Formats: sequence, structure tokens, C-alpha cells
Amino acid sequence: MASLKTIDEALASVLEHASPLASELVPIGAATGRVLSSPARARIDLPPFPSSAMDGFAVLASATPGVLPIVERIAAGVPASAPLAAGTAAEISTGAAVPDGADAVVPIENVVETDGRVEVSEAVQAGAHVRPRGGDVTAGSVVVDSGARLGAWHVGALGAAGVSEVECARRPRVAVLATGSELRAPGEDLEPGQIFESNRQMLASLLSAASAEVEVLATVPDDEAAHRDALAHGLEADMLVTTGGVSVGPHDLVRKLESELGVEEVFWGVAVKPGKPLSFGVRERTLVFGLPGNPVSTLVAALLFVVPAVLAIQGAADPGPRYEVARAVRALDRNERRDEFIRARRRWEDDGVVVDPVAGQESHMIVRAASADALVHVPRGRGEIAAGSAVRYLALA
Ligand code: AMP
Ligand code: MG
Repeated sequence: MASLKTIDEALASVLEHASPLASELVPIGAATGRVLSSPARARIDLPPFPSSAMDGFAVLASATPGVLPIVERIAAGVPASAPLAAGTAAEISTGAAVPDGADAVVPIENVVETDGRVEVSEAVQAGAHVRPRGGDVTAGSVVVDSGARLGAWHVGALGAAGVSEVECARRPRVAVLATGSELRAPGEDLEPGQIFESNRQMLASLLSAASAEVEVLATVPDDEAAHRDALAHGLEADMLVTTGGVSVGPHDLVRKLESELGVEEVFWGVAVKPGKPLSFGVRERTLVFGLPGNPVSTLVAALLFVVPAVLAIQGAADPGPRYEVARAVRALDRNERRDEFIRARRRWEDDGVVVDPVAGQESHMIVRAASADALVHVPRGRGEIAAGSAVRYLALA
């Protein structure tokens, strides 16, 4: 590990190698979290017709004030039978089409209705309580742009604009492999020297939340043949993410075997704690991440590099990671050589968010990390960050 890349250099290098996947049509009901690969455009003007914003009476503004005969009752979805004659009124529901000849709606609470007539006592402004056609969007305009990751509000907008399917990058296939002879699946019995394997499902959870189709491979012991077969299979995916075996020990086999299988290493080693021995390489279009095995190292490296890569190959305009800002409750020691990510809990106070480190910051302490909801970035340097200083963090929740 001659020279460590900075976090920014490493992320830039990963994103440089992330080329977008092909796209497919996805029904909007299944598109939440997916990334648009072309802009979705409105199929209609919205509203499609001038519509009433209130329950009331449609009138011609210039005919008010006055006592107007009620000539029709217009419900939503049922247009008026004829244009409105000046000096008359049509009862109208919220969302119903304002008839030709009318240019305003008087809310029901502002009028007195007697004997088939409505008394409008004050002059009404043209356009009052009428939602103009196309006031939200006009046909052909962009509703959601390419590169956006769809959220619930986008889905609502697409539906309203008549878009039933959108073009999205296909879901990336990501293979996840844990390495280590000491690992047993949760639920199995532990023999002396063994621990429970916890990285695969954590990664699967993170990656599927980023719209990946995750294939969780069987964990391999630290032996070359087992590594070779599993890695060869994993390299068929769009992305291969391994954990463990990328450090400098005699049982760390991942990089060697990946190299034998044709993976070109782009970098190995990032100036970050935890997560330093991260390796990244490519084989043709497949992106290959070797994450260090300690569960907190895996978590941090995945959030900093792998999740952004999964979003980038889907064409996300902003693949992240997305930092937020808070104040540190207490002073934070800085590491001279490496940027650090410390697990912390957030609190919402009157003047903003504060973050407070949890006890137990070692990289194997994933259960301590479970009491945190933020990863606070402590840039490398001398001394400490004073209590009360602004810091950036990645939200876990
Ligand atoms: P390695 O990166 O293989 O040297 O592993 C570093 C540490 O993380 C060792 O203590 C491993 O036992 C542990 N470890 C590696 N992989 C996993 C995993 N999938 N789940 C839990 N702990 C792991
Ligand atoms: Mg290992």
C-alpha cells in the first residue's frame, strides 16, 4: 500500500469507471428508488382544463355583483352541457371544469342561495378560484429529469401528468461475497475460533436500498480454490463486492486471485479509518470492490464508495454520498494520517442538529455502531476539532 488515496480521489476514480447501464421501461408503481435514464414528459396540460378550486358557483366576473339564476349544477368529471350565459351562475364542485362563458368561481360560503338564484353581493375578480389549464405543467414539459432518483413525490407527479411508465437504468446485478475461514452464518453453531458472518446481509440491505439486484454468494474459506470459483462467478455480475482478505496477511487472497482472473486493480488503500485496505478494480465493465472484513470498515467503505457506484452506474446525477452538517457535542481527536468516520448519535436541538459519539469506536464493534445514527467525518490533521464546531456527517437512518 505505497500511497493511500484520499477519499475524494478514491471516489472520483470509482465514478470515472462507472459507465451507465442499459435502460428499460418501468411502471411508475415499481419505479421508486430507480434512476431515470431519459426525461419523463407530461402527456397532458395539467390541469387539462380550467377547473374550480372551490365548491361554489361559476360566474362571469363582469356580471357581478348581482342576483344570478342558477342554470346548471356541474360535478367533477361531468362537464357543463352548454356555455354559461352572462348573468347566470352554475353550481360547481372542486375539480369540475369551469364552463366556457365563466371566468371565476365564487365560493359557496360567500353567497346566499334562494329559490334557484344566487346572490353575489361583491364584485368578483376574473380568474378567482379558477385553476388555469396547464397551470402546473404543460404537455411535453419535463416532469422529472434524467438522472433523478425517483421518490414518492416524483411518482405522484408522473401519475398526475399521465405518465404510466418511465425509462430507467436496469437494476445493477451485484454479487456479494464474504471471505474468511472463521465465518459461520448466523443461526449456525460456533466452534472455537469462529464468529458470525455479518457483512453479506448488511451489504445486501444497503445495496438493495440503492435498487441493486443482489446475489449473496456462499461464504468462502481462506483457500485459493474456493476463492477462485466464487470470484469467477461473482465477476459475471455488474459489480462484485467482497469483504475480508484484502489486507496484508498471509491469508488475504482476494486481490491475488482477482488479478489472476483478469481484474485490473485501479487502487488499493484509502486514507480513511476504518476502511484503509479497500481495493477497487475493473474487469471489462464489472466494478470490483474489495472491502476490509471488519464490519464497521465494511459499512463505512460501502457508504463512501460502493453505494455511490451503484447509483452512478444507474446514471444518478448525484450519486452521493450526501453529507449533512451538525455541531459536535464534544471535542473530537483527529488522526494525523487518515480521515476518520466516527459513529455518533444525533439530537435535534433548538439551534440545529448536534452529534455525540457513541462509546466503542473500534472497527469490529458493529453492535456499538447499531446505537448510532450518523457517521461523523473527522478530517485528518493535528490536534482536535473543538466542541461546538461544525462537522459533516452521513446519516445512517
Ligand atoms: P480481514 O479483512 O479478512 O483481515 O478481516 C478483518 C476482521 O474482520 C477479522 O477479525 C475477521 O474475522 C472479521 N471479518 C471478516 N469478514 C467478516 C464478516 N463477513 N463478518 C464479520 N466479521 C468479519
Ligand atoms: Mg480474513
